[in-house]
Amino acid sequence: MFFKDLPGQNKLKSYFTKIISENRMPHALLLTGGEGYGKLALATALATYLQCKNRTETDACGECSSCKKALQYIHPDIHYAFPVIKKDKLTRAETTSKDFLPEWRTFLSEYIYGDLNQWLLHLGAADKNANINVAECNEIIKNLSLMTYEGDYKIQIIWNAERLGKEGNRLLKLIEEPTDNTIIIMLANNRSQVLNTLRSRCQIINVPPISDEALLEFITQHHDLSEEDSQELSFLSAGNIRKAQVLGSNLEMNYSEDLLDWLRVCYSGDPEGLVQISEKIVSAGRQEIINFLEYGLHFLREYFLFLNTEDPTLMRLTSVEKEVASKMSKIIDHRKTEEIQRILEVGIGYVQRNLNLKSLLMHMSLEINTTLRSEVNNLVS
Ligand SMILES: [Zn+2]
Repeated sequence: MFFKDLPGQNKLKSYFTKIISENRMPHALLLTGGEGYGKLALATALATYLQCKNRTETDACGECSSCKKALQYIHPDIHYAFPVIKKDKLTRAETTSKDFLPEWRTFLSEYIYGDLNQWLLHLGAADKNANINVAECNEIIKNLSLMTYEGDYKIQIIWNAERLGKEGNRLLKLIEEPTDNTIIIMLANNRSQVLNTLRSRCQIINVPPISDEALLEFITQHHDLSEEDSQELSFLSAGNIRKAQVLGSNLEMNYSEDLLDWLRVCYSGDPEGLVQISEKIVSAGRQEIINFLEYGLHFLREYFLFLNTEDPTLMRLTSVEKEVASKMSKIIDHRKTEEIQRILEVGIGYVQRNLNLKSLLMHMSLEINTTLRSEVNNLVS
């Protein structure tokens, strides 16, 4: 991965190239920020840049022997540790990241913006719990105690550092008294879940969401969508590249009318209508349902702002959606918006967990019906 392959994050890219040119690269970094903001891509680009024998001011050269290996994720002085599960005949306690390197390399090539769920799906182990164990910590200590093979640095990237339990304390000495040219880059979505002892010894770098403009450029390059749909997709992805990729690849963009239809039927409470619309949503398939519900969440977040603001230009909504929003404002207020958001969030969790989709959608529709009708009941009673 080059810096230039990661959309946006220009401030961080210039920061890193600058401190490296001034020889001020810290020994321990913690990159934190939400899913899909490009932490792993940034860390691999940074490692590639550090090892490059012929750096430019802005990026690795891509030509030298180090770059060639780093770009294939096989550089012997760039180590990766990440949450894993038990492998084949090994016990879980024996298994470490190095037992999953082939899978990890394909993951980096295909899903570098993916999250832990994506990684587990990639391993065909979506229902498993992955973590970073004691053996892994020992492996990290070993990696960093070796001489470098060919690079100027020994680099250890630790992905999902919040999955390091107390075992992580074994790494303290390494971080406090680093050997020469050792660089540890930990990545975490949520800094508060990283062991305090480790966190306090790292330079913490906040990785923000990808800007709408950078995301729009990325979408335009990678997806064949109309201008309006690309704009819509960039809003909908809210700074998350992975989301843009997933939504962009199986996208039917006009969810807003579908959402309005669904809410209308939910409001009416007509049993036949509810069955029909639940079946229609379910027929699209699991991923499409998730996309639809995610869309619903995005829309309701913006709709909530719509109810508050006098300035609609601030909203991440297209003109069609703003029309839908103004129609909805007659029946959905702040409290109901929040309640429906909650129903959708819970629903997305269930859809991912393989429950019976038809009864789930029916159940959600009825809950929304209760929410939408709640005020009417209050007035009557
Ligand atoms: Zn190079």
